[in-house]
Amino acid sequence: PARTSRPAWDGVGRLADGHRVKLLANVGSAADAAAAAAAGAEGIGLFRTEFCYLSAAAEPTEAEQRAAYAAVLSPFAGKPVVVRTLDAGSDKPLAFLPMGEEPNPALGVRGLRVAFDRPELLDRQLRAIAAAAGDSGVELSVMAPMVATAAEAAWFAARARAAGIPRVGVMIEIPAAALCAGSILAEVDFVSLGTNDLAQYVFAADRQLGAVAALNDPHQPALLRLVEMVAAAGAASGKPVGVCGEAAADPALAPVLVGLGVTSLSMNAVALAGVGAALAEVDLAACQAEARCPRP
Ligand code: PEP
Ligand code: MG
Repeated sequence: PARTSRPAWDGVGRLADGHRVKLLANVGSAADAAAAAAAGAEGIGLFRTEFCYLSAAAEPTEAEQRAAYAAVLSPFAGKPVVVRTLDAGSDKPLAFLPMGEEPNPALGVRGLRVAFDRPELLDRQLRAIAAAAGDSGVELSVMAPMVATAAEAAWFAARARAAGIPRVGVMIEIPAAALCAGSILAEVDFVSLGTNDLAQYVFAADRQLGAVAALNDPHQPALLRLVEMVAAAGAASGKPVGVCGEAAADPALAPVLVGLGVTSLSMNAVALAGVGAALAEVDLAACQAEARCPRP
């Protein structure tokens, strides 16, 4: 049917048969969060906290971080939010955190790896996030970017819980983490698939390089098989598996992701209505059939 014949999205993500799929927003600033709330997001599925650091000449103090995070979270009082700890390095360099020369920055010290020899940087951020969640009254979850192993997930979870974070997760955006999702889920409360980086690493295709952009295609079976593995591990452990990469914003792919077992989709606010309308047209059996269709 023509897109114009679709019913308007009513702000609750569900399939035609009532199966719930939380539709959440990716945000990086207070303006993004206001737009996401206005667009009817059910919560925040990815708060990229880098924004607070990107132009800073020195590390923002805990108090500065707390105020900046609370400003982003406050439109979502009473709602679920997932705050991601600092994802610096590679395509997101930070002025006050020089990484030194690396021959392959996408394979270097980035994401959670930055914290391994600077754990107090992570602890300050975790305390600021917990305080900001209290200030804004949100239902807080926190996750780490660029986790490769269950041991790294356990290391992060211990620090996050010590800082008072009630729900702790990690992103699955490294193929090793997707392949071992079951052992990672044993350490945390949920996972969220970062399909932008997962595609980059699965296809060995730099996400910033136009010449290989065609390879970074989340419709490819190699990527969907990893999504399926992670979703199966989530179902086996009874823990949620979201997608917060660009794949979640594609109305043609969203039903496939749901059919593979994904439980929430997080995207830019402008994509919510289109994805919500696409999901409202199909039932779970149709999503599962689409997810099963032959993928050579
Ligand atoms: C991803 O990698 O899919 C993701 C959501 O994180 P970012 O785009 O910020 O790396
Ligand atoms: Mg990423």
